[in-house]
Amino acid sequence: MRIVIYPGTFDPIHSGHIDIAERASRLFDKLIFAVAVNSYKKPLFSAQERIDMILESMKHINNIEAFSTEGLVADFAREYKAVAIIRGLRHVSDFEFEFQMATMNHHLNSSVSTLLMVTSEKYIHLNSSVVKDVARLKGDISNFVTPVVMENLKAKFGLT
Ligand code: ADP
Repeated sequence: MRIVIYPGTFDPIHSGHIDIAERASRLFDKLIFAVAVNSYKKPLFSAQERIDMILESMKHINNIEAFSTEGLVADFAREYKAVAIIRGLRHVSDFEFEFQMATMNHHLNSSVSTLLMVTSEKYIHLNSSVVKDVARLKGDISNFVTPVVMENLKAKFGLT
């Protein structure tokens, strides 16, 4: 079974993430989201909340799983016997960081290869911070997140 892991903060999952996960899941037997617990980004949502939103948002795809991790992506990949790590690329500026990560992850776990998937044009400027900022100021983000994420953002920000 060929397993790919998709690591990130996913705080919360948005259409850019979903697009990458949908396309990558077609290339592998299983795609596992690795949800970073101790992210330096100080997440708005708990790891369990982020996992629940991922699973609900991806329920139309049947070869998806999601687990949290406090450790190295390379170790997560080893634990779940993954052959690949998928990452999304939005801008040229993403490349340098992704290149460093890919090289380090291969050093730490030589049985895993990193694949960089270019984002769909319409999601180039989308990221979780923008989603949270716009939602907090009551802007319309319905094109960029699923209904369950909308509900969770509203609850977090005390909006009705
Ligand atoms: P962000 O907070 O920027 O949305 P994450 O840490 O959750 O990012 O990102 C996890 C992975 O998803 C990374 O590989 C990232 O490049 C990718 N990603 C994030 N946003 C997009 C997008 N709009 N299109 C494609 N890939 C994306």
